[in-house]
Amino acid sequence: MAEMRGLLLPESVADVVNPDGGGPFVLVCEHASNHVPAEFDNLGLDEAALRAHIAWDPGALAVASDLAARLDAPLVVQRVSRLLYDCNRPPESPGAVPETSEVFTIPGNRGLTADALGDRARRFYRPFRDLLAATIDRKEQTGTKPVIVTVHSFTPIYFGVRRDVEIGILHDHDHTFADLMLAAARRDADTVTRRNEPYGPNDGVTHTLREHALPRGLANVMIEIRNDLITSKADQQAMAARLAGWLSLAQAELPAGKRKERVT
Ligand SMILES: [Zn+2]
Repeated sequence: MAEMRGLLLPESVADVVNPDGGGPFVLVCEHASNHVPAEFDNLGLDEAALRAHIAWDPGALAVASDLAARLDAPLVVQRVSRLLYDCNRPPESPGAVPETSEVFTIPGNRGLTADALGDRARRFYRPFRDLLAATIDRKEQTGTKPVIVTVHSFTPIYFGVRRDVEIGILHDHDHTFADLMLAAARRDADTVTRRNEPYGPNDGVTHTLREHALPRGLANVMIEIRNDLITSKADQQAMAARLAGWLSLAQAELPAGKRKERVT
């Protein structure tokens, strides 16, 4: 919290980068930040845990920002750690305010009352959800049916097991755009790219797509990038260039009718 003349001003918990971007995409980065406001006392975690993948998606914001520039797209980002509230989960999900994440327990999230959980959703989820909805509204008002693209990164080693997938193309029950992305990826022999890996809709990771894309009948995809591939600026830029190519190819091949069809 920033203090000014005794008044506590709320920090920004969500932002839109490049709000006037005219391209046919709306980008989303729900796990952009590992910031925990001071009042939460790091949720009882040490610095190493807060730097780890459980607190955020390392590298995802850099790739998403680069994509926003390449595609001239608005990008909606969360500005606080997903450990406070995971904006890719609905308030009723136990994963929204996780008590454990992989091998870590989150002391500051244990035994919270319904009121405390409601407060987290009110402060950290609703502003993000509302900003994303307003950003999509603005796009639709200009006559564009945007493709909704969420950008994530995942840890190369999970519960001690090494993951060989490099890029995951994830979808819920509308797989039209994901199919086109996978077709574009197949022409790019350099990467291990797979459908619904290392997570899929059964892991509850498609909340943003279900909340914002499916009810509006908008084409959509979730991209998961293995985070060891996007640690340097050069690697982040190369990944963004690659993904921008796939996204543009897929968007160009999207049937015009599909963009207006309602998928519910
Ligand atoms: Zn993520």
